[in-house]
Amino acid sequence: MSSPNPESVQGLTRRQFVRAAGASSALALAQSVGEAAEAENPPRGKGPESKLPTRVLGKTGLRVSTIAYGSYNLSNPKLLDAAMNEGITLVVTSNDYQNGAAERTIGEIMARRRKQVVLGTGKSCTRRTTTQDLLQSIDQSLKRLQTDHVDMWRVHHVNDADVLGNEAIYEAFDKAKQAGKVGHLGLSTHSSPATGKVVAEAIKRGRFEFLMAKYNFMEFPEDYVPFKNAADAGMGVIVFKVDAGRRDKAVAEMQQLKDKLKISGDQARIKWALQNKLVASVVSGERSFEGIREACQAAMTPLSRADRQYLDAYVRRFQHEYCRYCGQCVAACPHGVQVDDVMRFVMYFKHYQAEKAAMQEYAAMPQEKRAATCAHCSGPCMAACPNGVRVQPQLAEAHRLLTMDVGTDRHV
Ligand code: SF4
Ligand code: SF4
Repeated sequence: MSSPNPESVQGLTRRQFVRAAGASSALALAQSVGEAAEAENPPRGKGPESKLPTRVLGKTGLRVSTIAYGSYNLSNPKLLDAAMNEGITLVVTSNDYQNGAAERTIGEIMARRRKQVVLGTGKSCTRRTTTQDLLQSIDQSLKRLQTDHVDMWRVHHVNDADVLGNEAIYEAFDKAKQAGKVGHLGLSTHSSPATGKVVAEAIKRGRFEFLMAKYNFMEFPEDYVPFKNAADAGMGVIVFKVDAGRRDKAVAEMQQLKDKLKISGDQARIKWALQNKLVASVVSGERSFEGIREACQAAMTPLSRADRQYLDAYVRRFQHEYCRYCGQCVAACPHGVQVDDVMRFVMYFKHYQAEKAAMQEYAAMPQEKRAATCAHCSGPCMAACPNGVRVQPQLAEAHRLLTMDVGTDRHV
């Protein structure tokens, strides 16, 4: 059986699809706007054995697999190959990941399998990023990805709604779209407190067709209002960080509970996110073949009572350890440590098998925002945390891990 071709929707070629992806034609392609409808058939992936469901991504009209392949720390192209063989037809990356190395790795597979996926990339912007910067970044991404176009391009990591007031974003996107280089405009946001504001601004602008945002059982209600607002405005929703820090990996009591309930914690977290029908796809950053298979299996199975029981236990166990990366304590730090970023990088290091990428990101931070002073501090930031996270010892450990010279165990 031939591989799926997400761009051959209703007989259009990919290039035609990209060019025709204005709101009206895209609307005509979508089975539903607002609710990401489940695909009944055919199965996607390498063959009839792949049952990974698909949903429609809002008014983009793109039908995407309910598991997306994320590439934050991707370095082995074989993993992407395997993910596509499992039926994953949505691949998302960013020009910013590993200084472009993630795009290059994906490009190795796209050179021969580009037509089998919906491909998205993006670039983080400030209020001062220029049209020229963005056009250059798009060309750079296409070159690395070994393709002449991406189906989705996004403003990456928007935690300040004012960034969307930068007209260069729209000018660059329109120019690139006219040249057939990009299909649909979206944005991603990583900060839970900022998501509502960012989504409201995106809706006001009327230009965005999809949203990528953090969503998990620990921080968000099942019927999260900003997603409803985005969907009502026709934006498709893709979510990430559904695993709420994955802190249970090496905790014996949690392992015992999983064994007793006969469930997988990773699968329970994915199932929780997908039970929200406004969510078109969950980004998985799995870096093992088994993990990719498990993620895909989760998308085919409903959330059970045992899954819920486990997630409730996870919340109780980790609520005062799990940093939500909200940044609300930053102002309370007399040394200007960027607590949310440091905690995010150490999570990648400890729980996401992304040691190298995390260390690179940490090294790129301005010295004064790093956690060098935390080991000798009484931690006034902790009183400012609305979640009661005991963050000072974690920051001290973060600095030690993220500056470790792995070869010599020398700290730099
Ligand atoms: S532990 Fe001290 S130095 Fe570190 S972030 Fe908190 S207040 Fe700042
Ligand atoms: S420690 Fe608390 S306030 Fe600070 S970033 Fe984490 S969750 Fe937010």
